[in-house]
Amino acid sequence: MSHISRRTVLSATAATAALGAVAACGSATSTAGSGSDARTPAGNGTSSDPGQPSAKATPIGDGSTSDTGAQPNQPKPEKLKPGEQPPQFVVFSWDGAGATDDNQFPRFLKLAEQYKASMTFFLSGIYTLPKTKTDLYHPPQHSVGASDIPYLSDGAIRNTIKLVSQAWLAGHEIGTHFNGHFCSSRPGGNGVNKWSSDDWQSEIDQAISFVTNWKTNTGFADLPPLPFDYKKELIGGRTPCLEGQKTLLPTAAKMGWKYDASSPGGLQMWPQKVQNGALWDFPLQSIPFPGHTFQVLSMDYNILANQSAGSTKGDPGKYDTWRSEAAAAYQAGFDRAYTTNRAPFFVGNHFEQWNGGIYMDAVEATLKYVAGKPDVRLVSFRQLVEWLEVQDDSTLRKLRTLNVGQAPTGGWNSFLGVQGAAATPTS
Ligand SMILES: [Zn+2]
Repeated sequence: MSHISRRTVLSATAATAALGAVAACGSATSTAGSGSDARTPAGNGTSSDPGQPSAKATPIGDGSTSDTGAQPNQPKPEKLKPGEQPPQFVVFSWDGAGATDDNQFPRFLKLAEQYKASMTFFLSGIYTLPKTKTDLYHPPQHSVGASDIPYLSDGAIRNTIKLVSQAWLAGHEIGTHFNGHFCSSRPGGNGVNKWSSDDWQSEIDQAISFVTNWKTNTGFADLPPLPFDYKKELIGGRTPCLEGQKTLLPTAAKMGWKYDASSPGGLQMWPQKVQNGALWDFPLQSIPFPGHTFQVLSMDYNILANQSAGSTKGDPGKYDTWRSEAAAAYQAGFDRAYTTNRAPFFVGNHFEQWNGGIYMDAVEATLKYVAGKPDVRLVSFRQLVEWLEVQDDSTLRKLRTLNVGQAPTGGWNSFLGVQGAAATPTS
């Protein structure tokens, strides 16, 4: 794996190349024991015990999922007042979202609670499918049961179900990272970029089926159902290696989804809709990369690809430097938006321990850096969609005119105020 040049890092190819280099999501091991405690308290003021079924839960189907009413701990989306400076939204999002044996999922649930953040967890559907039932997975253009990420042990599946329940009750969003994680960039890779829209339909149907039938498939009769109706909860996803968005979008729109987070190499600008206005496009973004002459995508594996040339076990002597660079990149990306156009800032990550876990530390440092600053809202993609959809179209159009790092000429009051209604940025 050669170094990623500036040009390629900013392109779709780079995102996929980087991912292939590190076998993304490969940190998902199947060795998690059932002993690790997934039941840290669900936070944000709720008294819900994720281990107990809600009194008002109405089971759906075989009881793998249930309807428990409106999701707890949701902010109320408010329309900007004339001349008001927009909030600075920050979305931390997690690809895979399985309970692997490194306990990163509970670590970040706890941090989210502590710093009052809502996040998005893109669950891989097969993380709820036991190894004895892999013949139920028919991946498009691959043999039955094939997957590029490992199936989880029964203990890890149990913990995944508990953690996903806990996450939702705390106010986080459960999206999808699909199933088998096929990337064209892996050696001999036969990836999702070759899939048709029908292939995506099959993959999504199967992901939903695994998440909504885990009770039948695992036989775990003692666990309470997931506290949500997944067909309603699921309104967006992120594709493996950020590949295949083009053919996914028509299917996502047909499913009634609201957004897609699979685009590589986006800019730090206000989001726009794609697919004839059906879906919000929330890309990974190019952000400043301290210590380098080029920008990097706001995702762990893209930073890794540029630091340890794609190896997940680079030179330990460099870890401190690399950790600082990664944290500084995220913080510089945040600062650039926060002090100028206020474009929502997106961070993508996996639960992994690459290069000694430095990227997890960098995300934690970033969370602590941004939380509590004035106007900062740490939200899920779903919550961001809800906010965008209560704004005036004219406001959103105006925000879209602000380029990367461009503050509104004359200030926010003029730019979004009644008197500034015709104003356009001049630089
Ligand atoms: Zn992934």
